[in-house]
Amino acid sequence: MASHQHLPNVVVDDDDDLVLAAAGGIRGGLMGSSQQLGGGLLVDLHASYLATSASVEASTTVFELAAASHLRMSGAYWGLCALSLIRKTNAMDINALVEWVASCQHSDSGGFGADTNHDAHILYTLSAVQILAIVDRMDAIDVKAAADYVAARQCADGSFTGDEWGERDTRFSYCAVSCLALLGRLDAIDVDAATTHVMSCMNFDGGFGCVPGGESHAGQVFTGVGALSIIDPQLRMLSEAQKRTMAAWLAERQTSKGGFNGRPEKLPDVCYSWWVLSALACLGKLHYIDGSKLRAFVLGCQNDERGGISDRPDDEADVYHTFFGIAGLSLLGLDTDVVDAVDARFALPEKVVERILLR
Ligand SMILES: [Zn+2]
Repeated sequence: MASHQHLPNVVVDDDDDLVLAAAGGIRGGLMGSSQQLGGGLLVDLHASYLATSASVEASTTVFELAAASHLRMSGAYWGLCALSLIRKTNAMDINALVEWVASCQHSDSGGFGADTNHDAHILYTLSAVQILAIVDRMDAIDVKAAADYVAARQCADGSFTGDEWGERDTRFSYCAVSCLALLGRLDAIDVDAATTHVMSCMNFDGGFGCVPGGESHAGQVFTGVGALSIIDPQLRMLSEAQKRTMAAWLAERQTSKGGFNGRPEKLPDVCYSWWVLSALACLGKLHYIDGSKLRAFVLGCQNDERGGISDRPDDEADVYHTFFGIAGLSLLGLDTDVVDAVDARFALPEKVVERILLR
């Protein structure tokens, strides 16, 4: 096997051994489909792939391929969170990671850039806070300044801009609400106005757009439902009829191949396993889709030589799809022997969210 040299801590005789070791944890009910695919989630290979891809030291090599510099903070979050879900964070140098994250906080605005000397943006501020939440190192940054940066992004109509240049999008509403909840500072914004704005981006078909009247897209449904779920886990701002319409639109994203697309008529893509499933989980309607078919699609997108998961079978693996593939499998709850539970609202391990919210 070509990737032997990348697996110093894993003794593997051949591919079958690794596949069987990983498949050993899968519950009986799905063994038929997993056997057809040749195995379950290849956790050791993915750990090796992610540790290399998400490591700060690897920034000049793998990051060039996996995530351009302008995405580095989010790339580190995807890699670390995926490693945490498969219980392999010891594959990463956490102290180096925390030091680098802290070095990306701007001393003037309090926001974080995607890398040192990059402009601050709400997307990377959330990724930075998510990383520190996972490793329980919020002490490494100026929390008040970070919360102030996020709160300053709120506009009079309740929406949020991504940075000081003013683009508005429901993605940024999600980032703000998630980030402030993790920092224990939801009180820093007008939550009612934020709720009203997110609700105004909901469409009659049950989807959400990035602005009022924008085309429905699964990613935007997650940001809408996710933000609303953090504000009220019971989602009391939505009627039962609205929840059903939303869940129906989401369920229609499952294609004949088992994977989900983001909009009607588009190809399935592993990352929508997360965007669609997490929104369904927030709505309490995971049973609207065929979980075993989705699981088979995700497992079929694994690179069984070098590790990592791609958007669809036979494409190049990347950190983003590896994380969202693993997180989607976590929500399905069919691989609990090798994957920890993920919180659908925060895209963080459940145990991390419990630790923070109970504090
Ligand atoms: Zn994708």
